[in-house]
Amino acid sequence: MYRAALPCCRGVAVLILLISLPLSASDDRLVPGKILSPGSTIVSDGGAFALGFFAPSPSTPAKVYLGIWYNDIPGITVVWVANRETPAINTGRSAPTLSLNNTFNLVLSDGGDGSRVVWATTNVGAVASGSSSPTAVLLNTGNLVVRSSNGSILWQSFDHQTDTFLPGMKLGIKYNNNNSTHGGRDERLVSWKGPGDPSSGRFSYGADPVTFLQLFLWDGEQPVARSAPWTGYSVSGDYLRGNISTELVIYQAVVDKDDEIYVTYSLSDDAPNTRYVLTYSGEFQIQSWSRNTSAWVVLGKWPSHECNRYGYCGTYGYCDETVVSPVSTCKCLDGFEPASEEEWAGGNFSAGCRRKEPLRGCGDGGFLALPGMMSPDKFGLVGGRDDINTFEECTAECSRNCSCMAYAYANLSSGRTGRGRTMCLVWAGDLVDTGKIGMVLGSDTLYLRLAGMDAAAGKRTKSNKMRIVLTVLGSTSVLILISFSLAWLKYKGKNKRWTEPMSIRLDDMSTNDQHRKENPPYDHEFPSFGLEQISLATHNFSETCMIGRGGFGKVYKGILGGQAVAVKRLSKESQQGTKEFKNEVILIAKLQHRNLVRLLGCCAEGGEKLLIYEYLPNKSLDATIFDDSRKFLLDWTIRFNIIKGVAKGLLYLHQDSRLTIIHRDLKAGNVLLDAKMKPKIADFGMARILVDNQQSVNTQRVVGTYGYMAPEYAMEGVFSTKSDVYSFGVLLLEVVTGARRSPNSQIVGFPSLTVYSWNMWSEGKTGDLPDSSIMDNCSLDEVLLCVHVALLCVQENPDDRPHMSSIVFNLENGSTSLPTPNCPAYFTRQGVQVDQFRNDIQTSTNRFTLTEIEGR
Ligand code: ATP
Repeated sequence: MYRAALPCCRGVAVLILLISLPLSASDDRLVPGKILSPGSTIVSDGGAFALGFFAPSPSTPAKVYLGIWYNDIPGITVVWVANRETPAINTGRSAPTLSLNNTFNLVLSDGGDGSRVVWATTNVGAVASGSSSPTAVLLNTGNLVVRSSNGSILWQSFDHQTDTFLPGMKLGIKYNNNNSTHGGRDERLVSWKGPGDPSSGRFSYGADPVTFLQLFLWDGEQPVARSAPWTGYSVSGDYLRGNISTELVIYQAVVDKDDEIYVTYSLSDDAPNTRYVLTYSGEFQIQSWSRNTSAWVVLGKWPSHECNRYGYCGTYGYCDETVVSPVSTCKCLDGFEPASEEEWAGGNFSAGCRRKEPLRGCGDGGFLALPGMMSPDKFGLVGGRDDINTFEECTAECSRNCSCMAYAYANLSSGRTGRGRTMCLVWAGDLVDTGKIGMVLGSDTLYLRLAGMDAAAGKRTKSNKMRIVLTVLGSTSVLILISFSLAWLKYKGKNKRWTEPMSIRLDDMSTNDQHRKENPPYDHEFPSFGLEQISLATHNFSETCMIGRGGFGKVYKGILGGQAVAVKRLSKESQQGTKEFKNEVILIAKLQHRNLVRLLGCCAEGGEKLLIYEYLPNKSLDATIFDDSRKFLLDWTIRFNIIKGVAKGLLYLHQDSRLTIIHRDLKAGNVLLDAKMKPKIADFGMARILVDNQQSVNTQRVVGTYGYMAPEYAMEGVFSTKSDVYSFGVLLLEVVTGARRSPNSQIVGFPSLTVYSWNMWSEGKTGDLPDSSIMDNCSLDEVLLCVHVALLCVQENPDDRPHMSSIVFNLENGSTSLPTPNCPAYFTRQGVQVDQFRNDIQTSTNRFTLTEIEGR
């Protein structure tokens, strides 16, 4: 049954065919010679999805469709339909069948003898390629894939969306070989016609076929809603909350490659089933399955209200989505007034706005900067031309063209597309479908031509210039962007009180002599928060606000003064945590660097110890880089930037801050990623300051994480900047390879990633090291450089390892003259046996315990 569980979508019963026929297919695949018929299903390995026949509405004889639905929730929620335009007829006596034929195609036929082909795939060239024995496999992502015997994908349902956008699907445009012309396939979601009718309905959702830079929701050919133009390459993530048991992070990416541009997304670990669906009534919704209520919960929809429907506010009008009100309102752009006051007052905005002061002639007026806008539709693109490479040239282009009413500019030099490094958007006609979304991802600064703006004003707008902020991640983000902008406005406007510094006393927290010795007194004037304030911000530390758990307690997301913060609550039982708490507060209170997580304040009240940090929406690096379903979000450009960012953060700690600070626990789990995937080093609970020109310290308490710890630290308790350099080297290899530091299937036969990488390097196979998900698009030179630097960092002898200053220099500038690395630590000594290595640690005479090592 397609239950009322999905009231917002199709809301009508779907009948699963349970006609008793022998199972003709089992497990997750279909092979030639087998058939799938009504009554049997193919279930993905992992059990998340099923492929089978369903009847969306009762009829005689039964009209049935081949579809994919969630297998692990009650009822049938169909996410894909093969033969949506042509139902198969099931008379009971003659049942439709799905088979894989010898031309590598899936064929759905009915009519008893299979005489009528209802639907089939087309896999041109598969046979010609000499492949044999195809298989159709239903993957646990919900993707039905036809594979050749050599593993290549010949066809996949993810390339033929219906009304549902699942994690891992791509929605975008494929270009022809010639980049400059659009002629490849464009992909759209198309709604069902009605609740019991999967045939193509009125509504569709996809990329603008003219510019490829914005996403539209259409009703037939009429736009219903539009996202802001996409002006760069970006990845972001955000938490969504709703009446679902767990908090959900959606990682969204716009991927701009030579042959295609697409939007895709993935979900956080343990996320409930979540999907975007275009409903038959024309709403693009994000829905999550609530395990509590056994129903789909709509977490957001688009358009969310009248005002952000396409063109609702008329020409030169805009929808102000930054106003905190249940109904966003239409306004006229600065310098404009309603064309009809009366209609406007009556809530009819279609006539739009007119100039208060008309332009007096060609080229009249200057440009007023309007930051935080969603750029209007119908722009012309003058980017990529040799003569338009800067903001100033874009301004000049619009200034000299009489009909140019506005412009916006984006610098895409950080993008990797070859299709133009800059983008100058110009509007020659009236501005339609403008929005104000605030200073958030996806917002643009629109430069609007107005009469009465003198040259000086024009200049002023120029000095205020704010480049187009990278990217809208499809209309999906609009919902998210709105919440960002509201938070931002609140933050800017209110509650600044808490940012005032106050002195706090940390003396009531016990600490030991060793700790005092290792960390000299340090003034700590620092913002302090009240416990009540934090409780309020985190809904009394509710489970729904919990975003992580570390060695010393839980981490919650909260909103303080309008700003999202992460609150680390040290568990009361953890005596160990007290030291780390004090250490962290004292140490990083005064450190400020773009690659270090900002500690915003703390709270030591009522037995609670809380640390309040800036909130980083993309969580820790390890949550993405080691997750097969998410690692693709980190392409090589992003990874290389992460590596360089971490290196700079570490350099700051070692050298550029007033102190010499050793982090002691650098690892992928302690690198957090902000909304733009920029890295920030976190977790200073273990960090130590070196004083009086100390080069190294010998500690009795070795804490750190197995695999990242330098041998001299793990074995002898000696830490220095060079032990951090070692950890950095391991981390660097993880980022390049996407493999964990310790043995796994990828590096089987080797005791560690360092040894494996060194082996590959010495055999001249460094080019094979990168993660397969970035292999196609990474710069080999940069990869070689990174691996070389990493191998220098993980050398046995600390003196052989480079300083962070030269690492940063080499990563930024490349190098042709790096020394040859020696074998990495543990290579020769341990006879490449991890167990042996562990044994050695346990039986070593050093005064530390393995529990302390593994406690991290
Ligand atoms: P350990 O303390 O054992 O080293 P850890 O570093 O993962 O483990 P925490 O620093 O307590 O532990 O963080 C736990 C999780 O909370 C992180 O993995 C991350 O997902 C989340 N988290 C921590 N700080 C932030 C932050 N500032 N913004 C967003 N998420 C955060």
